Parts: sequence; C-alpha cells; structure tokens
Amino acid sequence: MRFQYNPYFAILSITVILSATIAFVVWRRRSTPASTTFAWMMIAATGYAAVAALESAAIAIPDKVFWSKLEYVGSGSLMTLFLIFAIQFTRQKEWLKPRKRAWLWVIPIFNMALAATNEWHNLVWTGFSPGSRGSNVLIYHHGLGFFWVMAWVYVYTLTSTLLLAKAALRPSALYRRQSRTVLVGALIPLLGSSAYMLALTPPGLNITPMCFMVTGLFFSASLFRFRLFDLIPVARDTLVESMSDSVFVLDVHNRIVDINPAAKRLIGTTGVCVGQYVDEVLARWPEIVRLCYDNEDFETEILMDWVDPRYVELRISPLRDRLGGLTGRLVVLRDITQRYLAETKLRSANERLQTQLLEIEALQVKLREQAIRDGLTGLFNRRYFEETLPKELARAAQGKYPLAIILMDIDYFKKINDTFGHQGGDRVLKVFGNVLRRHTRFSDMACRYGGEEFVLALPNMPWEQACQCAEQIRLSFQVLGVESGEQEIFATVSVGLAMFPDDGETSDDLLQLADKALYAAKADGRNCLRFSR
Ligand code: GH3
Ligand code: MG
Ligand code: MG
Repeated sequence: MRFQYNPYFAILSITVILSATIAFVVWRRRSTPASTTFAWMMIAATGYAAVAALESAAIAIPDKVFWSKLEYVGSGSLMTLFLIFAIQFTRQKEWLKPRKRAWLWVIPIFNMALAATNEWHNLVWTGFSPGSRGSNVLIYHHGLGFFWVMAWVYVYTLTSTLLLAKAALRPSALYRRQSRTVLVGALIPLLGSSAYMLALTPPGLNITPMCFMVTGLFFSASLFRFRLFDLIPVARDTLVESMSDSVFVLDVHNRIVDINPAAKRLIGTTGVCVGQYVDEVLARWPEIVRLCYDNEDFETEILMDWVDPRYVELRISPLRDRLGGLTGRLVVLRDITQRYLAETKLRSANERLQTQLLEIEALQVKLREQAIRDGLTGLFNRRYFEETLPKELARAAQGKYPLAIILMDIDYFKKINDTFGHQGGDRVLKVFGNVLRRHTRFSDMACRYGGEEFVLALPNMPWEQACQCAEQIRLSFQVLGVESGEQEIFATVSVGLAMFPDDGETSDDLLQLADKALYAAKADGRNCLRFSR
C-alpha cells in the first residue's frame, strides 16, 4: 500500500496523538463506569482518527475505500460509546443495565456491515471520483445507505446531547457548572458533523475525529478540575436523594432551593417546596424556623411532635461562595427518636438500678446490724462481744487506760417465767436492755451474753466509777415495775465486776473473773455487786 503524506494526514495524526494521550490519562484516572466509558470513547476516537489519517494518505482508490470502511467501525463505536457515556453520566436508570445497553450496538454493527459489503449493493457509496488535481482527495458519491447512517448518527448524537443538556439545566444540581462544560463538549461533534454535511469544511476532510478530540479535551478538563466523574452521580442522586437524613438548602432570603425526599417525608408533604419560604413550608414548627432565621452555624436537638413524639437533631451549616460571602444555609434534620427513647429508657433503668442499689445497701446495713445484734433487746450479741472485746483490750493496753467488765444475771428468772409466762420474762429482758442503754456511753459496749445474762465493757473507766455505774444499774432496775397485763413485775440483778489490767489482761481471764464475782453475788443472797479481787 502506498501513501502520500499531506496536510490532512498531519492534522489527523496530531488528532491521533492527542486523543491517545487523553485516552491514556483518563484510563488511568477512571473511577466510575462513566469515566471508563469515556476512556473507551477516546480509544475509539484515536482509532477513528488513525484510519481517517491513513485514508487521506493512501493513494490507490481501493486502499482509500478500505480505510473508509474502517472509519465506519471507528465512528460507529464512537457514537455508541458517546450515548452510553451520556446514559451513565446522567444516570438513566432504565438504560443502566448492561443487557439493555447491548441493544444500542445493533444498528452501528449493521452500519459497519453495510459499509464493508458496499461492493455488493453500492448503497453507501454509489461511486468514487478523484478530487482536484494533485490533491490526493477522493470524492465519495453517497447513496441511500449513507444517509441512513447519517440519520442514525444524528439520532445518537442528539440523544446524547439532549441527555447531557437536561442534566446541565437541572435547577438544583450542585454540579451545574461541570455539567455545562460537558454539554459544551458534547455540542462540538454535533456542530462538526453538521458543518461536514453542509459542505462547510474543506472537501474530503472528515473533521468528526477532531471534534471528538476537542470534546475529549473538554471532558478531561472537567475531570481534572471538578473531579467530575467521581462526584456528580454519587453526590446528587445517590447521596442526597436516598439519604435518610432530611436535607434542606436555603438561600439568603430563607427560600428553599433544594429539598430531598426524606425532608418531604418528615414534614409530610408531596407538593413542590422549592422556591417557597422556609416559614411557609415549616409553619407547623416555628421553633425550627426561628433557629433557621437566627443561626448560620448551629446544632441542637428538638422535639418536633408532641402527640407522636419525634426527636430530631438539627444542624445548620453556612454555604459560602468563593469569596466567603454567605450564599445560603444547609439544614439537616436527623430523626433520633429511637436513640432518644432508648436513652430515656436507659436513664430510667439506671435510676431504677440506683434506687435498688440504695435499697440493697440499706438492707446490707440492716443485715450487718442483725448479725451483731440481739433481736429481743437490740443490744450487741455474744458473738460480737467476744470478737470485739480483745480489740478493745488491745486498744486499752495501747492507750494505757483501764477497762471494766461488768457481768449481770437476773435473779430467779425461772420463777418470773413461771409466774408471768415467757412473754412476761421477755418484757423484763427488754426493759433491762433499756436500763443498760441508759447507763452506758457511746463508747461502751452493752451486750446480751446469754438467756438472762448481760455483760458490759466500759473502756477508760476506773474501778470506783465502774462500781458506781454497776450500782446505779442494779438500783434503778430493782425499783422498775415491768408491766405485764394488769400486774407489775419487779426483778433484781446480781452483778460481778472485773478490771483490766489490774485483775486480768485477757478477755477469757476477765470474763472468768467477772463470772466468779457474779457467782459470789448470787451466793451472797443476790441483788448485789461483787468484785473479783
Ligand atoms: P438465778 O437467780 O440463780 O439466776 O436463778 P434463775 O432462775 O435466773 O436461774 P437460771 O439462770 O438457771 O434460769 C434462766 C432461765 O431463763 C432459764 C430459761 O428458761 C430462761 N430464759 C432463757 N432465755 C430466755 C428468753 O429469751 N426469754 C425468757 N422469757 N426466758 C428465758
Ligand atoms: Mg442465768
Ligand atoms: Mg438468773
């Protein structure tokens, strides 16, 4: 195959290099299906430009026709990929499925076959004639098939452009500027092929590959400047539209410029809210309106409905232009009812636990008391006394002070029981307990030692004072009439006294001595005090 290189070849070769560069860069940065399709689009544009360049350089007519046939493969793929890109970029849901998209390839493949088999039917080209002398340009005479192909090209490019235009003119799109850049890029091939059809371009030069190269430049400019393919589809449609948080965008005049479905659900409306003032749309919630009016940057939790309680977290954030001027506010409401109710439940459960804990603590105190106290008289019990006395003695030894042990036994108690019954006896025991309490200090230890036997440990009490105390107890008890029914019970008590450290130093010794003294008191006729010395 022989070639003759000419200016058209040079121009198309540059197009090949630029398109290939764009394809390479975009391929490496592709992150979404649309950007992958865009990369494929630029690969097709590269191939298309390459075969167009070879067509312009080829000399023999069969060679030129061969390259022209390949151009149909390039352009057919390019237009189809452009439409697929527009579908993906604007998220046409029903066409996003790959199976459905495959149908878009049916006509372009048919067109490629039509061009490839032209010799059999001459539908695409009816004939060829050389261009002006020395130009190496072949003039193609077009048949019905060519116009069919052109009509298809227009349907695909127009559809793609319209889809992109719709996206660019969307009122609430945050990415309007980016979409517009894409739209301008998309219009170029349309204008280019129209110029070719209207014979406004140099004869024999197909400028479509160049137009797509320029489109590629526009798209990739958007890609790098705005991270177009990464952001657009996700941000607006998926993120804001499907998020469960309610989103309102207000302009500086507190008009709603954007609202998502969750927000409409929250305020219970299906009508158009965009363009209305926030105080009209949120008339039922004056508190939110007031917060929107008063704040630029704010966060709080509020109760939205009283009947069917709904708690929301309200967040107001300022929206600023590049110079920092306020252009509006973003209001996000998040339903936190579940969390709030769970927290409330948790709080009351906590409070309940707290009171239970206090009750348990009180019970524990009571139990501890019960464990060391005698149930009838409320005095300490024997076990506690025996546990505590050695410690008291140790303390007294360390503090070098005396400690008196006074052991007491009610006289003829069996008789009291026999005469007045067990209950009468109990009453006597109780009354005696009270007597002991009255005659002891806080630091003293009064204890019911056995059935009708009691013992006192009196720290820091000298012998004389201890005798006095024992006598006072004995005397005040003997005159005390204990009521039992209609009768009064008079009882007496015998007392034995032993002193630490003079009489003994251990609790066993002291108790034994006190018991001995008590035995002596019983032996001496009862109702008297005896000492161990
Ligand atoms: P003594 O003057 O020699 O001490 O004569 P007593 O009758 O007091 O002799 P003793 O110490 O042998 O008798 C104690 C009696 O106390 C025997 C028992 O039935 C009675 N008793 C023991 N515990 C209780 C009690 O909790 N309640 C009553 N009502 N009686 C008790
Ligand atoms: Mg006794
Ligand atoms: Mg007795």
